[in-house]
Amino acid sequence: MPRAYFISGVGTDVGKSVVCAGLLKNIANAQAIKIIQTGASLSDQNLYAEACPRHQTGTLRHFKLAASPHLAARVENQAIDIPLLAREIQQETRKAEWTLLEGTGGILTPLSASETFLDLMIALDYPVILVVGNVLGAINHALLSLEVLKKAGLKLEGLIFTHPDPRYREDHPIAVDNMRSISALGQAEALGVVPHLPELSRDTRASTAWAEVGASLSRAADRLLAPGRSADPPAEAVSGAEAVSGAEAISGFDQRHLWHPYCPAPGSCEPNWAVARTAGNYIYLQDGRKLLDGMSSWWCAIHGYGRPEILAALNTQAQKMAHVMFGGLTHEPAAALGQSLLKLLPPGLETIFLADSGSVAVEVALKMAVQYWQGGGRPNKTRFISHYGGYHGDTLGAMSVSDPVNGMHAGFKGFVPEQLFVPRPAAPFASPFDESSLQALAEAAARHHEQCAAVIIEPVVQGAGGMWIYHPDYLKGAKDICRRHDLLLICDEIATGFGRTGKMFASEWAGLSPDILCLGKALTGGTMTLAAAVCTREVAEGISRDKRPLMHGPTFMANPLACRAALASLELLRASPWMERVRALQDALETGLAECRNQAQVHDVRVLGAIGVVEMKQPVNAARLRKYFAEKHEVWIRPFNRLLYVMPPYALAPGETARLCLAIRKAIEDEEWV
Ligand code: PMP
Repeated sequence: MPRAYFISGVGTDVGKSVVCAGLLKNIANAQAIKIIQTGASLSDQNLYAEACPRHQTGTLRHFKLAASPHLAARVENQAIDIPLLAREIQQETRKAEWTLLEGTGGILTPLSASETFLDLMIALDYPVILVVGNVLGAINHALLSLEVLKKAGLKLEGLIFTHPDPRYREDHPIAVDNMRSISALGQAEALGVVPHLPELSRDTRASTAWAEVGASLSRAADRLLAPGRSADPPAEAVSGAEAVSGAEAISGFDQRHLWHPYCPAPGSCEPNWAVARTAGNYIYLQDGRKLLDGMSSWWCAIHGYGRPEILAALNTQAQKMAHVMFGGLTHEPAAALGQSLLKLLPPGLETIFLADSGSVAVEVALKMAVQYWQGGGRPNKTRFISHYGGYHGDTLGAMSVSDPVNGMHAGFKGFVPEQLFVPRPAAPFASPFDESSLQALAEAAARHHEQCAAVIIEPVVQGAGGMWIYHPDYLKGAKDICRRHDLLLICDEIATGFGRTGKMFASEWAGLSPDILCLGKALTGGTMTLAAAVCTREVAEGISRDKRPLMHGPTFMANPLACRAALASLELLRASPWMERVRALQDALETGLAECRNQAQVHDVRVLGAIGVVEMKQPVNAARLRKYFAEKHEVWIRPFNRLLYVMPPYALAPGETARLCLAIRKAIEDEEWV
């Protein structure tokens, strides 16, 4: 299997290309690639060629201005597209057994207004060799770089020290102490030391100088080539045997003691796979497998996993205050998050209840609606109109408004409040809108409005209840019906919020603002549990007539860590080209899943934004499929009922989306789903 390493540095001019060339000299079947070269000539590629004329070398992007890539590209009216570049790199790495990929500048060198080299490194997830220019100040630079790599979840293969400054040769006491301190404080292994060679700073160097560089890195190269040291590593730096027993021990305990979502008692359900870590768009299992994530951990990990910006925000907040009660107290993370949300939310939604999970946000929304009418002197308006095929959560109130057939009503008759249900919005998203689809809702509202507080609906996409994508005009009609019959409209955007459908909120497809909006899942970018029920000033004031309180107040309300994670996630979203990414994902899913339409057993194929669904005519064999996807295609897709579907992180490279689609297509073609 081809292997690749990133050769990154603690800054510019530390000798990354010399290290690349020196390692290349020691590995026969290797190639060196400069990912982005700035400046007039292909200087780094030329340097590799000078040192190793027989090796394959190349440069993937070249901009003439000798400056940071983001600026050099901008001057030429170009942009660096990370997913595209990542895909090219993956293709390049197939051309040789070993690939050394040299970075540009340091790890946080910008590639665009919102992305740095680190984003590319995270997308590819190759192990890193960090080149440290051993000069005064090296400890600080090296430790900062190591910290960033660690937070990003990237695997550090080791350090290589270079000595570009004649004042600090490798035997200078400061240089010696630097090496010791960096290895100890940064807990990183020194793989090699390139001595100070005055000839290296000349324009062309004698082959003897290259021979010396090669010799200084021969031990480092041997270490990289040694069996068991892999550039495409299993989940953790543990030996195979340890990894297997670790995975078994975890799964064993899990099977005996831990409940899982919608599963029988521990011990009587399918074994769950142990995950060692997540990074970028990948899930690394404890047994060494690496799976491309098609699920974003149930819609939330929209930026992929382990985003350093979110982790750094969590770290900083944790030092100050992990939690404090919200009763009678408040804090900056909550206020800042509130401000940030108000800028994004559909107009009119002004007051925010920060709850601790999606289901709880739905409970709060239902209470808001009931209390609003109580405040208006109409205490009988306590029921809700909802839709078949809807899903709003697992707590009692949320269950009561979820689909009564596929949902959990049957098992809880007499316990779950009985609500009113109308058929799911029948008009498909892409077809002309059929007004008659609103008839059932209009009739139910006309007949029952005296007892009903609100209509609750998932805008445009019914998620867990069937992945059904319907026409936005249905929502517009629903809002009119609510107005006519004194009903509030609650939009549950817990699954659809934050860009998933191609709009920031799915309600925007209908250009409407509900009276109450529920948010959750992607709010923290998939890192912490946090949700919100947001309502208009009118609803808030209606609830609080005569200073009546809204009757909800969870212990972990507005948890500061979760608020901070949400702020960082919203900032990442704002600064990223999320709309273009979701659009590109939609196109790629359309193309990749189109062929499924020709399969006799396929009932329907639906795509909207970063959601791709294939509905079969019969229920699928979910357990068999999960295994097939992981073993044959190395992807994580979790089908249910009659549905094979994906809702991946937004920054998937086109090749990655194609892999998810291919896995689904093949599963159907090869009858792996039955
Ligand atoms: N509403 C919708 C639309 C959802 O998709 C979900 C979760 N799948 C929920 C509510 C419940 O959220 P949570 O699982 O965070 O309680």
